[in-house]
Parts: sequence; C-alpha cells; structure tokens
Amino acid sequence: MDFVKENIKNLVEYKENNKSYKIKLDANEGKNIFFEDIEDESINIVKDLSINRYPDSNTEKLKEEIKNYIDVKAENIITGNGSSEMIDLIMKTFVDKDEKILSFVPTFSMYSIYSQIYSAKFIGIKSNSIYIGTEGQVRCPRGTMYLSPCPDFSWDIDLLIEKATEINPKIILICNPNNPTGYLIPKNEIKKVVANVNSLVVVDEAYIEFADGSIVDEVDNYENLIVLRTLSKALGLAGIRLGYMVSNKNIIDMVNKVKPPYNLNSISQEIGIMALKNKDKIYEYVKEVKKEREILYKEMKKLPIDVYKSNTNFILFKSNIEELDKKLEDREILIRKFPGDLEGYYRVTVGETWENKEFVKVLKEIIEYENS
Ligand SMILES: *Cc1c(COP(=O)(O)O)cnc(C)c1O
Repeated sequence: MDFVKENIKNLVEYKENNKSYKIKLDANEGKNIFFEDIEDESINIVKDLSINRYPDSNTEKLKEEIKNYIDVKAENIITGNGSSEMIDLIMKTFVDKDEKILSFVPTFSMYSIYSQIYSAKFIGIKSNSIYIGTEGQVRCPRGTMYLSPCPDFSWDIDLLIEKATEINPKIILICNPNNPTGYLIPKNEIKKVVANVNSLVVVDEAYIEFADGSIVDEVDNYENLIVLRTLSKALGLAGIRLGYMVSNKNIIDMVNKVKPPYNLNSISQEIGIMALKNKDKIYEYVKEVKKEREILYKEMKKLPIDVYKSNTNFILFKSNIEELDKKLEDREILIRKFPGDLEGYYRVTVGETWENKEFVKVLKEIIEYENS
C-alpha cells in the first residue's frame, strides 16, 4: 500500500549532525548567555508557571518584550516554534499547489524543502561570480588565480525583479544576511524589490543582529513585506524553539487564522520574555561574536583556502582537501559541509575564543599534513 503524497516521496529530509564532538561549530548556535550561571534567578522560571494550563495562545507578554526589542507594534507580530514554523505557516497561508517560490541560491535549505512539501515550485537564481581579466584567466577578489569563474555570492537584485516580473512567484524569499554565504544585501535593495514586485517578499533575518540594516521597521509601509526573526542565533536560545514574524496587520490576521492554537509552550514563552528583557546582554554578546569573527577571518585568511567575508556568526570557506569535514570530525570538531553546487565549501560557526583557536590550529595541521 502506498499512502504517501507524490511530493513527499522524493523529499530529502533535513539532517542534523549527531557525531560526538569536543567543539561544535556546525549549526550557528550561539553561546548560552542567559543560563551560564546556575545561581541565576532565571532557573526558577518554571516554578511560577501554571503548566497544567494551556499557554497564552496569543503570547501577549512575549510580544510586549519583542516590541521593546525591535521597536514594532505587538499587533504586527506572530510567534511560534522557531522561524521554521513561521516559514511553514506562511506557505500554509499563501501558497497553492504549483505556485512559484523565488529565491537566490545557495541559501537556507529549508526554503526548498517547505516549497516541496506544499507542492510549490522552488526557483533559485544563481548568486554572482566575479570575472576579471580577458585572457581566459579569472582573478578572484580574494587573491587566488582561477581558471573558472569565482563565485562571490553577491546578488543581482535587478535580475531578481526581472525574473519576478516574468514568472510572477507567490513568494520571494530573501535570507538576509544569507546562510550559508554570509552575504548582506543592503536594505535599500530589498525595498526596491518589495516596491517593484507583485509577490509577498519574505525577508529571513535570522542573523541580522550580527549585521546592520534590518528592514523590520518598514513592515507597515508595504502590503507585501514579511520579516522573520529568531531567538536561536544572537540570543543563543536554539533549544527553546522561539521565532517570530513581523508584518502588516492584514497579513498577520490571515496567518493567525492558520496558526495552531497554543503553538508556543509556556516555558519557551517565559524564557523568551526573560531573555529579551536583557538587551544589554544580547548586545554585548553580539559585539563579542563580531570581534571573534574578524579575528577568525584574519587567521583563516593566512591559510591556503578561500575565505568569505561574513555579516553573520559563521564563515564560509572553500578548500580542495578531500572530506575536510571528516578529517576535522576525527579530531572532534564539527563544521558544516555542503553538497551539489557547493561541493568543497564549508561553513564554520564563530565559537568562543578557545574553540576558534583550536579550529584554526587543527585546520592548519590538516592542511600541512595534506600538502606534505
Ligand atoms: C538558523 C536559521 C533559522 C532559524 O531557525 P529557527 O527555527 O528559528 O531555529 C532561520 N533561517 C535561517 C536562514 C537560519 O539559518
């Protein structure tokens, strides 16, 4: 018997890495900044919760804190189990079978997975490559000589608008800054897209705290702009699964019809409220990560690999060493490798100082061994 929907049959599931590790730099998780100290009053959170009762379905208190954190109205917010649930809800609300979802590639793999689940057609516009020189040889901006085009993973926004005009997608998904490339598209460019297409433009700002130029303050100025945010990265709370979307009241009302009641449990709500009150702690941590990111970037640039500038809490790099991820894994360091078009590329999360140092040291050893 075969009960499975056609579109699910060849769906490739999102797989997490579950190898044993000493240093985990494969999932862009933040540091545990809120519960480091076991004496912390935050540990008592659960004590005062009536967990026999359903949680506040509308998450009023949490939205108040989000409002204070990003300066938008509470009525413009929907919360849920990570921005992943937000992507799911948006597709559920707006996307019919065979409709098109337009994005750039490479980008966050969940966009195409959700598109497939909802029987939509995911279309990815290739990121830019750099060609300099006319005699067949191409010079990469990172200083390496190439015989083929060198991707710099920037985006051509005019091309996106052109393509959108041509195929009329229901949704345009922009990951800003982008995972896994770290590329940041300026706010003005996104505004240009939003103003010039007939699609819903969803801007995934999972890493925006590590960059500048959130577009979240613009949601009331457009009919077709949705911004996704999460507590998983800059707030170091991936484990509580808390994300939110911000949009104009009309869109929020529509998505609320589809949102399951009580979707966000009371413990996550409470921890989220506690965390968002600590703006200073968040900013301090973000500052620390940005500093570490630049140090890590500089150290990696000294090695014979291609390293990409990042506006996030991770760095993308390219190496010709076969199965570099496995070799690091043998030394109990986890990083992320990519298939397909990104073969040979790796993404490393900016960790704590000692983790970054150890990563660079081991990477260097592997490279030296391979080249000897
Ligand atoms: C990590 C990440 C998210 C966050 O997902 P959550 O479900 O909120 O944990 C969303 N989008 C992108 C691009 C990410 O990299």
